[in-house]
Amino acid sequence: MLNLVLFGPPGAGKGTQSQKLIDHYQLVHISTGDLFRAHIGNQTELGQRVSKLIADGELVPDSVTIAMLEEEIGKHPQAKGFIFDGFPRTVAQAEALDKFLESKQTGITGVVALDVTEEELTTRIAKRKAISNRADDDAEKLKKRIEEYFGKTVHVLPYYEQQGKLTKVNGIGDIEVIFDAIKSVVDTWKQ
Ligand code: ADP
Repeated sequence: MLNLVLFGPPGAGKGTQSQKLIDHYQLVHISTGDLFRAHIGNQTELGQRVSKLIADGELVPDSVTIAMLEEEIGKHPQAKGFIFDGFPRTVAQAEALDKFLESKQTGITGVVALDVTEEELTTRIAKRKAISNRADDDAEKLKKRIEEYFGKTVHVLPYYEQQGKLTKVNGIGDIEVIFDAIKSVVDTWKQ
């Protein structure tokens, strides 16, 4: 299997690049952000539990996130591989993912971290706010999301670095150029 983690701060372009990677490598896309938004939209019990946290830009507790992710993986027994987008966001999530994949006789192939400056992120999300109406895209909530990223999520990077699985790719510039850079990394992992 080809199991990729696409890593980066809010607004790094994970959604855009994930879509291209899915098409190119025929992977199943697992975005915990999209899954939570679907639960909120469908007003499920889980959605009701997490909507305030998400609107405020805070992380959802690990136990809730991990259970949802495992359930989602379980829905795709025939998958050639997965692309994890927005997960893991904490070291506990990364450990849980490793354990879970190991129980399925597989594992993370590699992690691509999109490198984008904080200044660029703020500009991009301000633009997205104008079209997306995501409650967590306003300036104050975004500040919280960036804080969560630098407070909790960055620690996931050394976790994968120690496993020799991390590659950083410049996330600023032309979408196709960034995609080509990601592809050349992933192709070395496929061999
Ligand atoms: P972004 O565009 O900021 O990368 P996402 O769409 O991935 O955001 O996620 C939106 C929100 O959903 C996050 O700010 C957080 O509240 C929640 N969320 C998504 N994934 C996770 C996760 N793995 N752990 C905890 N909370 C999560």
